Amino acid sequence: MPKESTVRSPELPENGHEMSRDHPVVVPAQAVPGDTLDHIDTPALVLDLDLFEENLRTLQALAERHGVAVRAHAKAHKCPQVALRQIALGAVGICCQKVSEAVPFVNAGVRDVLITNEVVGGQKLDLLAHLARHAHVMVCADHPTALQALSDTMVAHKASVGVLIEVDVGQKRCGVQTPDHVVELARQVQALPQLVFRGIQAYHGGLQHKRSAQAREHACATVADRVRRVLAALQRAGIECPVVSGGGTGTVAFDIPSGVFTEVQPGSYAFMDTDYAANDWGETVAFRHAVYLLGTVMSTPAPGRAVVDVGLKSASAESGVPTLLDCPDVQAVSISDEHTVLHANDTAILPALGAKVRLLPSHCDPTFNLHDQVVCVRNNKVEALWPVLARGLSR
Ligand SMILES: *Cc1c(COP(=O)(O)O)cnc(C)c1O
Repeated sequence: MPKESTVRSPELPENGHEMSRDHPVVVPAQAVPGDTLDHIDTPALVLDLDLFEENLRTLQALAERHGVAVRAHAKAHKCPQVALRQIALGAVGICCQKVSEAVPFVNAGVRDVLITNEVVGGQKLDLLAHLARHAHVMVCADHPTALQALSDTMVAHKASVGVLIEVDVGQKRCGVQTPDHVVELARQVQALPQLVFRGIQAYHGGLQHKRSAQAREHACATVADRVRRVLAALQRAGIECPVVSGGGTGTVAFDIPSGVFTEVQPGSYAFMDTDYAANDWGETVAFRHAVYLLGTVMSTPAPGRAVVDVGLKSASAESGVPTLLDCPDVQAVSISDEHTVLHANDTAILPALGAKVRLLPSHCDPTFNLHDQVVCVRNNKVEALWPVLARGLSR
């Protein structure tokens, strides 16, 4: 048993108690519209709207040239305002990876959602049915038992969903293995109540970060061949396949012109990160770094060293330490929960105590997931704060 504490907290003046009860301390807004970068409280996730919109237009133009639709993947940002902007600039809808993730988007008015994943489990299926009563929803499947459960749930909720049969196009993760098996499952979908066979998903995550553009192009050609074999089998069976969905940021430049995809589902293209920047982009599309972490130099404890208040709670680092912008010959060398350490070469000038610095995230998806809001700027002035509402919704 713990001994009763004999330590008492120092008495606060009477009015001090009253004040904290009646007027709880409030964390002020991180920024307000019109602020300059210097006035944003840090660490902050900052989105440069001009560059973000340029990325959306770049992809949209490429897709439109080839008659392919853009269905932007929302797992990258989890922010309904971002999705609404993508749709305003031409996207047909969004992808979500998890059912719960889709909820804030549908509540914000997104009307067309593909869950790019297998959904298994009663609670998830019930939630999917609720969503399907508010939006056009498609979901992936690769197993007869899962299709039966999906249909049963939709019947129980008087809802209906579109189904894409996921095809394993080489990633060796989820997905049906042979064209004949795709046909079999498509027939099952057609026979089950409240399900509509819409097509196939053919996504290969393993290709996205192959560094060489030539290697990605070659691998995408193999994916396209596999898709063609599936489409031929469906056609022989007399089954229409209106949707072929796939492709990510690293492969869209090859997937879009391949002629097999009706829509592409990249997410990171809107923001970029240093892991994607390390790809060789050759003559293909170029996306700009539109998102960065803003930090404050909080300590300059030794010659050649400065410490910034961006840590693992505001920047994911499984793809590497964030990269410092703006200061030549100064590098971010390590990151821990609440700190990033900068090192300067001999002659380099370190940012001073209190200076604001910009860091590029190494992986944008898990970085967005760490922030309550994204601070949107245009010409380095705050324009809006967008809540990352699906943050943490990973069920
Ligand atoms: C993550 C993912 C994407 C988008 O990936 P990016 O690399 O962010 O473009 C597309 N489709 C599926 C199924 C995914 O899991």
